[in-house]
Amino acid sequence: MTVLVNPTALSNHKARDFRMLIDGKWEAGAADPIERVAPSHGVVVSRFPTGSKTDAERAIAAARKAFDLGPWPRMTASERSAILLKAADLIAARAEELAFLDAIEAGKPITQVRGEIAGSVDIWRYAAALARDLHGESYNTLGDGTLGVVLREAIGVVSIITPWNFPFLIVGQKLPFALAAGCTTVVKPSELTSGSTLVLGEILQEAGIPEGVVNIVTGRGPEVGAVMTSHPDVDMVSFTGSTGVGKLTMSNAAQTLKKVSLELGGKNPQIAFPDADLDAFIDAAVFGAYFNAGECCNAGSRLILHKSIASDVVKRIAELSKAVKVGDPLDPSTQVGAIITPQHLEKISGYVAGARSSGARVAHGGETLDLGMGQFMAPTILEAVTPDMAVAREEVFGPVLSVLTFETTAEAIGTANSIDYGLSAGVWSRDFDTCLTVGRSVRAGTVWMNTFMDGASELPFGGYKQSGLGRELGRHAVEDYTETKTLNMHIGKRTSWWMPQTESRLGRS
Ligand code: NDP
Repeated sequence: MTVLVNPTALSNHKARDFRMLIDGKWEAGAADPIERVAPSHGVVVSRFPTGSKTDAERAIAAARKAFDLGPWPRMTASERSAILLKAADLIAARAEELAFLDAIEAGKPITQVRGEIAGSVDIWRYAAALARDLHGESYNTLGDGTLGVVLREAIGVVSIITPWNFPFLIVGQKLPFALAAGCTTVVKPSELTSGSTLVLGEILQEAGIPEGVVNIVTGRGPEVGAVMTSHPDVDMVSFTGSTGVGKLTMSNAAQTLKKVSLELGGKNPQIAFPDADLDAFIDAAVFGAYFNAGECCNAGSRLILHKSIASDVVKRIAELSKAVKVGDPLDPSTQVGAIITPQHLEKISGYVAGARSSGARVAHGGETLDLGMGQFMAPTILEAVTPDMAVAREEVFGPVLSVLTFETTAEAIGTANSIDYGLSAGVWSRDFDTCLTVGRSVRAGTVWMNTFMDGASELPFGGYKQSGLGRELGRHAVEDYTETKTLNMHIGKRTSWWMPQTESRLGRS
């Protein structure tokens, strides 16, 4: 089902001119701004400063100064937590503005983005709570003469680089935790969707973040991002994006041995056994494949179905796919919005064409949609896909579902694990043993059982294999932005190294 784009919805919308935030000041940048055209309506909706290499260097210098000399790392956790809580309240107060920006810049359905902003508020509050629970360890068990204390110290200056598919949600999976630990930051949002991150800068200033603690430099990855991942004054890089740029980030960071945290791509399987609740599974299969137009690292883009149910399940998914509403992101009934750029739509179509020529059959969709303006892709199901096809192994990042089959549990696990990615997976069965066997054998950071793409601020998220390094969210998220320091203290009588006969000392190399 399609929802035609309302051509007048943005006709009175004046493109918003944004500035970037460096050392507490809003700047326009020296070069012409980057213009963002709404992927749904084809009109310019935002202009972002084109940050330069020098802008990135100035932002890093500001973050360095704020870390080395400023109040932020020296405040009590209670004071930092209060600012993060205030930020959460201000995000909630500006939720509609933030949701609108992400909807028009990314082409995401407005109803869905409202949920993402509400989710972000919860994450900011969770990070505020964790800030006050950050602590080290003490060892009072090392003998009369020794006391050991293990400190957690903020790691320092953190570069945060984010993609276009969840602009506000993803910065919220990183920034509040880095701030909670006492770090200072330079943030680079995607050049396509920088608006909501820049509004976040205003919110943080209003909440009381000191100058230089959060710098936001807009612009292009190879220019701004390259400095942020290689500069010697940066201590850690937290990156979400494609696996290719993730590898580049790691290699840049390796030159000065920065810590890296990488959240990368996925090609996530949903495995269904004949005894599963098929109504629930079919609903989850449709949701998993088409949510966020499939432009989602967690997309359930591979179905691995038991042969005995495959043909019936594909028919039912195709039927349900017809009812999915694709179209105007500003229409509250829309479930699948626009594709981020015309080039990306071409890439998606190319995958479908490639799969067809390799022998896959289109069970539903397969074509681009003309909804009057913008760029859209029909929800697409490809059957008779084999594990060696590109569409079964690579991230399409569009609303395209590849269907594979299996006969034995071992075969299902083997197919699930046969690719380079390992972000998430789903298993559907009413049998406890089946779910646990598959859940423990699939190499992925999250395995959903009889559900898909559920999440909570408390649950760690991240990938195995080439889906990433490290985990976000969860109890340890703040610790990720810390260094560990050992304080080894001597108490009382000493022994001398040059008189080994008195008592031997334990050397440490
Ligand atoms: P990219 O990797 O192209 O870009 C991500 C960010 O990196 C952008 O801000 C980009 O800037 C920047 N960048 C580009 N080149 C460089 C460089 N040389 N040095 C430093 N930074 C650079 O990903 P997309 O924005 O296209 O996002 C889609 C990808 O993100 C998908 O593959 C998806 O799977 C992955 N993703 C992973 C998630 C996870 O948690 N595992 C969650 C969401 C997305 P610019 O905008 O200028 O290109």
